[in-house]
Amino acid sequence: MFTHRPEAAFVHPNASWSVGEFNWIGFTLDMRAALAALLILAPAVASAGPISLQFPLDCDLGESCFVQNYMDRDPGAGAQDYTGGGLTYDGHKGTDIRVPYRRQIEGAGVTVFASASGTVLGTRNTMADIAQGDTDAPDVSARECGNGVLIDLGDGWRTQYCHMRKGSITVKTGDLVTQGQTLGLIGLSGMTEFPHVHIQITKDDKLVDPFGPERLWAKPRPYQPGGFLGAGFSDTALNYSRIKQGPRQLDRLPTDAAAIVVWGLFYGLRKGDRIKISITNPDGTHLLQQSFEISRNRASAYRLAGKRLSKTQWPAGSYGAEIKLIRDGKPLSTRALTIQIFD
Ligand SMILES: [Zn+2]
Repeated sequence: MFTHRPEAAFVHPNASWSVGEFNWIGFTLDMRAALAALLILAPAVASAGPISLQFPLDCDLGESCFVQNYMDRDPGAGAQDYTGGGLTYDGHKGTDIRVPYRRQIEGAGVTVFASASGTVLGTRNTMADIAQGDTDAPDVSARECGNGVLIDLGDGWRTQYCHMRKGSITVKTGDLVTQGQTLGLIGLSGMTEFPHVHIQITKDDKLVDPFGPERLWAKPRPYQPGGFLGAGFSDTALNYSRIKQGPRQLDRLPTDAAAIVVWGLFYGLRKGDRIKISITNPDGTHLLQQSFEISRNRASAYRLAGKRLSKTQWPAGSYGAEIKLIRDGKPLSTRALTIQIFD
């Protein structure tokens, strides 16, 4: 009913990080500065075992930001995240942490922090924030990372941050950065369709999944196998582009509102999932109940249900809505909302 191209079809940064290959994605690299900085850094990290990573974004994982894609742990043609689940795609080399809406990369934005201390090996800061799939999307071949930062942590470890906002990067090649230091802002540059940071970790040029088995996060990060990015009321049937942008949250509507509509935006939907939407009148009766079956896996998608005004006005009062995401016959996640219809 509301189809869109699944984001999983897009290829993400594809980089093996030996220094010699670094210019492949177009960063500039000052080897002498980087090596000099490494020598200074070396005593602190020389005997380090596995590294300890801080969460790289100024948001609450599972509340205001979400892991859209984990690293692909399946060496073959399939794709599996570290739990054996499907929140990844074939060949994905890092972790994609997203915010729900595009409007969130405007204004003050969402800060990207250094997950670990190290030396900046390269940056890029000049690519436009335009989602792939948009009509004016640029060719980002060989620059899939978009605006980003590559950091050498010492002892063979590296972190790479991708898809940041044009002009937002506050560090430069050769800088020593400390864990938690601001690197810039989330953007929409490079090979991306949604606002997120791709963080990629390597040890001796081999990819490492921070979720395991090394468990590199300083704090445990619970796994969420999909769910809500957001939900809300509207007085019109919003299209996907408006929902991706981030609709204004309505908590009241007039009695002559053209429609009462409830929408949900989801990530990590799986074939066979069901989405049930109901709206309740002020007197407790159902205004509507609707159920949708998800016919194929989707990185993200929305569903909405609503009713147009058929009489002269809606009865005033408090309307409730419930949206349920059901997987394998059990509720995976539920949102309850209310709105006031006022005279
Ligand atoms: Zn990615």
